Amino acid sequence: MPGRLAGRIALVTGASSGLGRAICLAYAAEGARVCCVDMYESPRNRTNAETGKADHYSNRIEGETTVQEIRRLHGDSIAHFVEADVTKADDVQSAVLECVEMFGRLDIMANNAGISVEASHPRPLGVHETSERDWDKTMEINAKGVFLGCKYAVTQMLKQDLLPGGTDRGWIINTASVQSIVAYHNTPAYTASKGAVAQLTKQVALDYAPHRIHCNAISPGFLRTVMTQNLQNDPASLAEINKAHPFGGMGRTEDVAKAAVFLASDDASWITGVNLPVDGGYTIM
Ligand code: NAD
Repeated sequence: MPGRLAGRIALVTGASSGLGRAICLAYAAEGARVCCVDMYESPRNRTNAETGKADHYSNRIEGETTVQEIRRLHGDSIAHFVEADVTKADDVQSAVLECVEMFGRLDIMANNAGISVEASHPRPLGVHETSERDWDKTMEINAKGVFLGCKYAVTQMLKQDLLPGGTDRGWIINTASVQSIVAYHNTPAYTASKGAVAQLTKQVALDYAPHRIHCNAISPGFLRTVMTQNLQNDPASLAEINKAHPFGGMGRTEDVAKAAVFLASDDASWITGVNLPVDGGYTIM
């Protein structure tokens, strides 16, 4: 298929939902074949400890929906679902190997899976109210998950030749957040974890530039996804968030996915180590 990513093989984590799904669809639309990675047993499938309510969310169905949507639009051999928990080294390594087995190589790694424990709490929590458990869980998924994704992607990319006809060996795109740049009220674990993603991105970019592996981050503003559902349902929070984006309103995942395409394409051939805000102007205020 023609497109800016024609012939490239991508792996996207957090592919069952929100931004991850949008990135998978955008990569496939630009000609890439895509391994869509998520875990079947989402933490959100369990009963919320604070509210006592069950979360109606099935990753099994959602992950396969992403793959089916890509197949419907672009053909059967374009997408493949892999179950993996990004906090588990064996899972991430196996996901990369399964991708290589399926499609022959790995050119683009989008480390996108992430959570916000703060966003799922019924009220905001300052650092003095943040539990060690919430801190650890956030760091495990948001920071360690990206570390493992970079580690096994780089390991694979170093074994590969330069891309056919090109000068590059691979592209890593890490999903950070505007909270890797500025703080938001009462989200200490999330903000710290996204700061880690932004700094790790620079480190990987520096260390593997001689091997022509790009590593960049995207930092979305607030998006209309499952993650921000509590905020979307609270008129006061929603009004505040809408005002905080100079373009007005919350972002669309498709618009952020366009940046993830750009950073995985030859258009970004001279770019590495950046943390690109895709935020409707949020971080200029
Ligand atoms: P989402 O909740 O809709 O999707 C996140 C996906 O990650 C889910 O499918 C979930 O199952 C998966 N996931 C969670 N833990 C995992 C694990 N251990 N292993 C594998 N998969 C796991 O959220 P989203 O809004 O699409 O968020 C995607 C990324 O964008 C996250 O990194 C998030 O921090 C970031 N982000 C979101 C916003 C926003 O406002 N929604 C803003 C800035 C950055």
